[in-house]
Amino acid sequence: MRGPLRAIQSYVEVLAKLLGEKIGPRERAFVEHILQSASRLDGLVQDVLNYSSLSRAPMEMEPVDLERLVYQVVQDHPPLQEPRATVEIAKPLLPVRGHACFITQCLSNLLTNAVKFVRPGQKPFVRVSTRRQDGRVLLVCEDNGIGIAPENQQRIFGIFQRLHSSQQYEGTGIGLAIVQKAVERMGGRVGVHSTQGQGSRFWLDLQAA
Ligand code: ADP
Repeated sequence: MRGPLRAIQSYVEVLAKLLGEKIGPRERAFVEHILQSASRLDGLVQDVLNYSSLSRAPMEMEPVDLERLVYQVVQDHPPLQEPRATVEIAKPLLPVRGHACFITQCLSNLLTNAVKFVRPGQKPFVRVSTRRQDGRVLLVCEDNGIGIAPENQQRIFGIFQRLHSSQQYEGTGIGLAIVQKAVERMGGRVGVHSTQGQGSRFWLDLQAA
């Protein structure tokens, strides 16, 4: 499915190389634009594929070391690391029972959103914590970002629901839909508390290990 996109990217790159000095800055800007659009489309296709495979992917519920997964996600995403952002982990995180791949996907979507939706120039600060609630584990991911108005707090979990343009904040609008589907498959729930302009607190209600 991603083959034709890769072909567009390769042919445009080769064409620009072949033309070399013959094209000027205006044409070069067009080439850049095509490559950027192809790369965004590639991200979208990847997200849609991830989303659709979530319903069918085999799932094994097992004890999951949440703390280890959070560290791993931070290690895999430079925008989550100093000096670009501070991600504080309220140790020890309680272990849960779930599917490690699904939980990793949820954590990486929540954390990358947390550092993305901030005011320009603001250093993102994210805190990840857990607590027991009614025999289950509540995983909470709090940020100091732009926040979400009450009337939008439900709909952002729907597919392709975005509150900003791609120029303002890059994205495909599938991240939270993936989180919701993954959490539901593990028998859990997801939600958000937020005041616009004052950060957001996303929570996942998961089985305790
Ligand atoms: P994407 O990040 O690709 O836009 P998501 O499905 O992950 O898509 O999120 C949907 C929308 O919810 C985002 O476009 C944004 O408007 C809002 N959102 C998600 N996470 C946050 C957050 N931590 N702070 C503020 N807004 C958020």
